[in-house]
Amino acid sequence: MSAKVIVTIFGASGDLAQRKLYPSLFRLYKSGNLSEHFAVIGTARRPWSKEYFESVVVESISDLADSHEQAQEFASHFYYQSHDVADTEHYIKLKKLQEELNERYQAEHNKLFFLSMAPQFFGTIAKHLKSENIVDGKGFERLIVEKPFGTDLATASQLNEELLAAFDEEQIFRIDHYLGKEMIQSIFALRFANLLFENIWNKDYIDNVQITFAEKLGVEERGGYYDTSGGALRDMVQNHTLQLLSLLAMDKPSTFSKEDIRQEKIKVFQQLRKPSQKELQTLFIRGQYKSGTVNGKKYISYRSEPNVTPESMTETFAAGTFFVDSPRFQDVPFFFRTGKRLTDKGTLVNITFKQMESIFGVPLTPNVLTIFIQPTEGFSLSINGKEVGEKFQLAGNTLDYRTNATASGASPDPYEKLIYDVLHNDSTNFSHWEEVRASWELIDQIEDTWANNQAPLHFYQAGSMGPEASFELLQQQGTSWIWQPQANNDEQ
Ligand code: NAD
Repeated sequence: MSAKVIVTIFGASGDLAQRKLYPSLFRLYKSGNLSEHFAVIGTARRPWSKEYFESVVVESISDLADSHEQAQEFASHFYYQSHDVADTEHYIKLKKLQEELNERYQAEHNKLFFLSMAPQFFGTIAKHLKSENIVDGKGFERLIVEKPFGTDLATASQLNEELLAAFDEEQIFRIDHYLGKEMIQSIFALRFANLLFENIWNKDYIDNVQITFAEKLGVEERGGYYDTSGGALRDMVQNHTLQLLSLLAMDKPSTFSKEDIRQEKIKVFQQLRKPSQKELQTLFIRGQYKSGTVNGKKYISYRSEPNVTPESMTETFAAGTFFVDSPRFQDVPFFFRTGKRLTDKGTLVNITFKQMESIFGVPLTPNVLTIFIQPTEGFSLSINGKEVGEKFQLAGNTLDYRTNATASGASPDPYEKLIYDVLHNDSTNFSHWEEVRASWELIDQIEDTWANNQAPLHFYQAGSMGPEASFELLQQQGTSWIWQPQANNDEQ
């Protein structure tokens, strides 16, 4: 059924809106999830006309539309208001437009607000939405907020308080776009629709879990922002890594409902082990890329990137070990690593199973289940078989099911999936405040250790898979990184 709703986007002239939000809304329109009873109000500082805004929307969906008429018909639902988030007058105008459009499109007072701007504005917007009665309790009222949700526990708590002044927790949808990815959602099916896996998904059978988020790119033009507010730990671990970990470590929910899933996820966040002072120094490592030459192409060091301070201590790589103190996973290490300027791009999870005692006179290779999240999507399972021939010799085989579904258009864009979920009031794939709070508590501890220089900053060559210390981290636990893409960086 198509939704009846007026969507208001704050930050309508921005990069995210044009690259992701308009195309995603268009796909929902094409699939019938949005039809005649919807309109979009775009707000941003620039003084755009409705005609100009429509042309921006048409341009952003030009690859997706079947015809120019279809694109124009979709764009006709878009209205623009030049808006300064701190100006009360503008909210009064916004309310008027909202009411007019509600009448015209018969949207039953349903409202969706998408904050696609720098988070420093979120509190002001929420406050005005309430004080100017745009949030008026009529119809459904939902708020989508972009990342980052704070830069530490204190700022995240403050932001949360500000949002709660206008919206309840059930109305707030905190985006973590990784949760909209096809293979992340597939983890539910893998774990809870296959007795084969669910029965062995515990400390008796799983030796360790490895989560990798690797980027080939450097910090690019985001240098200034990354150097002051970012770093790998805040940018990738507090949100995406810990969210993914919670899906891998959670207990089976009693039903596949948002309430039951959320309850099990929150439990994992509460069970995350708080590292001791010593463990903070030994279980987590930070790195920063140096210059390097890959396939003959030279890359500059992080400290030489534009808008980065020459003595910057910001980490472009982080690795570490989390433990979940649950009966299911007690003492099973969840290793993670994430970094920029690495050998290859890839987000994946390797689950290494324990191995049985060998009767063959040679040690057995453990089975590894790999979940490929991007750029390819799918699973692989390595199992031991016999080499063809008269002699009995063990050989490794890999069952591999993989697609490049994003390229073939088979997988929805995460934003399409996530907006669809919000329209259906499904918060399964969003971060609950309890999850955000617990993750910041843990990340703040690591950040403090690093800020006080109680752990070294390890440098790594551009094009490598991170500093040596990341490999040693696993060696100390008697294991190694399963995914080791072929490095082709030339020594210099
Ligand atoms: P952007 O800088 O391209 O756009 C910012 C928008 O905010 C513009 O439309 C601008 O007009 C508006 N704006 C700024 N100050 C304003 C004010 N005082 N009053 C009214 N409008 C004002 O930013 P973006 O890249 O689109 O990112 C938006 C949000 O999404 C940020 O929170 C960002 O962290 C997050 N995000 C973006 C991406 C991405 O791919 N771009 C990915 C993940 C998260």
